[in-house]
Amino acid sequence: MSEAALLTAIVLTFAGLTGLAIGSFLNVLIARTPRLIDAADGGGPAYVLRGLAWPPSQCGHCGQRLSWRDNIPAASWLILRGRCRNCGTAYGARYLFVELAGAAIAITAAAAFGPTGQAVLIALFGMGLLALILIDLEEQLLPDVIVAPLLALGLLWQALYGAGLVDGLLGAAAAFAVLWAIRAAYKLYAGVEGMGFGDLKFAAMLGAWTGLAAIPAALFIAFAAGAVVSLTLMVLGKMRRDTPAPFGPFLAAGALAVLAVPALPAALARLSGF
Ligand SMILES: [Zn+2]
Repeated sequence: MSEAALLTAIVLTFAGLTGLAIGSFLNVLIARTPRLIDAADGGGPAYVLRGLAWPPSQCGHCGQRLSWRDNIPAASWLILRGRCRNCGTAYGARYLFVELAGAAIAITAAAAFGPTGQAVLIALFGMGLLALILIDLEEQLLPDVIVAPLLALGLLWQALYGAGLVDGLLGAAAAFAVLWAIRAAYKLYAGVEGMGFGDLKFAAMLGAWTGLAAIPAALFIAFAAGAVVSLTLMVLGKMRRDTPAPFGPFLAAGALAVLAVPALPAALARLSGF
């Protein structure tokens, strides 16, 4: 093995193991944040952060504290087949999925950007998005305590590696303003809230990462994907017109599409004839 290949192997292994560990923390974040916010009652972010750190992981069914050997990312799940050692309650495959997804995101970022600060920022963005999407799908909630740090990281990334801090700020402001206008128009027309305020703040965070120029394409993809999926679910009878549906995953899909394929906004603009 050449020296360069060995170095790459070490970097990717380190990234994978770190990703597994952070994925394990993401599981805590996903499971606890919504209930901590409900219970905070004015306690604010400090209350939520304390609740994430303590108590240590325990079985949600019998309350047994997980010993270190039952709390090893991925390995413990596979050895115990996703069950509590004490009472045998199944935890669900999501725990393993989130840990493996954390590793996959970290390895992808390290492979694309090498052992750099950029890889760290991109990996944290991907993992934060993963937690937010899963929380939004389950609870229709996009907690500020996760959205706000990702907004700060997006502005930092723009300043260090992107089109500059100003472009990040403009992207955040534009995404927020466009969704605010759409939300206000929908409320005027339909008389009900079509979108939560959390979606606006989430869109602002994504806008910081995409920058100003990509906002129209990202929002077009988000609304198109949302319409296609909602109509499909309605036709299949899995959803009614008035079923509340999380919009966060579609906003995330739009942002990820323009970030992964930088040529997409220009291509969409040509297609639409502008
Ligand atoms: Zn148990």
